[in-house]
Amino acid sequence: MATKAKFQAIRGTRDLLPPETALWNRVEQTAHEVFATFGFGEIRLPIFESTDLFSRAVGGETDIVSKEMYTFSNPTSLAAMVRGGRTEGMLSDMLLSEAEMISLRPEATASVCRAYIEHNMQQLPQPVKLYCMGPMFRRERPQKGRYRQFYQIDAEVLGGTDAPAIDAEVIEMVMTFFDKLELQGVLLEINSIGDRNCRPKYVELLRAELSKVKDKLGPDSQRRIETNPLRVLDSKVKEEQSIIEKLPRMADHLCEDCATHYSAVKHQLEMRGVIYRENWRLVRGLDYYMRTTFEITAQGLGSQNAVCGGGRYDGLVELLGGPPTKGIGFAIGEDRLILSLQESGKAPAQQGRDVYIAWMGERAHATAIRAAKDLRKAGFSVELPPVEQKFGKALGQADKLGAKYALILGDNEVSEGLWTLKTLADGSQAKYTEPDLLAHLRKSL
Ligand code: AMP
Repeated sequence: MATKAKFQAIRGTRDLLPPETALWNRVEQTAHEVFATFGFGEIRLPIFESTDLFSRAVGGETDIVSKEMYTFSNPTSLAAMVRGGRTEGMLSDMLLSEAEMISLRPEATASVCRAYIEHNMQQLPQPVKLYCMGPMFRRERPQKGRYRQFYQIDAEVLGGTDAPAIDAEVIEMVMTFFDKLELQGVLLEINSIGDRNCRPKYVELLRAELSKVKDKLGPDSQRRIETNPLRVLDSKVKEEQSIIEKLPRMADHLCEDCATHYSAVKHQLEMRGVIYRENWRLVRGLDYYMRTTFEITAQGLGSQNAVCGGGRYDGLVELLGGPPTKGIGFAIGEDRLILSLQESGKAPAQQGRDVYIAWMGERAHATAIRAAKDLRKAGFSVELPPVEQKFGKALGQADKLGAKYALILGDNEVSEGLWTLKTLADGSQAKYTEPDLLAHLRKSL
């Protein structure tokens, strides 16, 4: 006999279950509220896009694009070819040339920029302030705080000026959001990684200096001397730390415009009372960043402690075929944000019911249905058992569900028009008329 297949969530993906999902909702609701106070509007984006969009925006050499994307050919083009009457032989030839490659999105900024261009948002009052939230997909090695399907809350400011006040306000917004959530151990680190003028020269200098100490570096850093020397600064390898500390620093090689911009961003942060730490080794993994970069870490996350990464990317819209456009944004790792809130005890406890209706008898059932409807309409969470139960069992069940009250409805209560309400915490009970009961619950819940 064939054994029954036992299905499990794919490695790196997971189910989010109640009561944890209540915390996810609270976090997302807080984001909607806080971001709205800063004038941001929500954009909802497709989960998959043309692969080219990501390779152009994020960069073909990055790990995300070269190793981690879920990419496949778009089956609709195949269907279109079949409908178009092409034979199977022709199909396989055409498949390679015509099929569009699409990828599950590994991040959101590229899509937001694509949408900005596609919907001519440069004609709206600038800057355009957008945010979005949802799943991202990267084929990374799964571990605590790192998944293959993970969730981000993302905000972007596009168009208008690159005034340092914009950088500071975006950072102020995410810090306000974390503050509202009472996220613990929040540390904001900032850096400037220069622009097209000054960064290439610095990268060359860095490459030259790294080549001199190549033998002392591990294999990853050795490889990065050629592919992406900035990433060497990111290295966590213990033996490399003393070498990295002696390398030239971007801050000493910024062009005048970048240096002025960076000091103005710091001043703007101070005016807003945002506490930061400078970290000259902070670089971002994605190609499109320039000037202001920042990262926020929080407590309780072990080695994967970054909850937010962001920065300026003035050239990106143009790179994707749009007009020259300033841009800055951030992505919050929602999974990690939730983990940190849970670790510090900021997660709400099990969501209990307000009222469990313990009913017995046909007449009481009809009254119970009506009572449930009225209580729910008033906003209370009500559990109405579908079948009759003995009172003892009903009260046990109410306890297990964490209900605050049991509303007891038997023949007596229905004929007297006086309902019994039992407070489960202390076992006390009292009788109420229907309107009094509602008023009492409103006062005490
Ligand atoms: P990035 O888009 O790489 O700048 O990442 C922004 C934030 O998303 C990070 O600071 C993390 O909090 C989160 N993040 C990135 N990759 C993952 C992942 N594989 N699993 C969970 N969170 C992630």
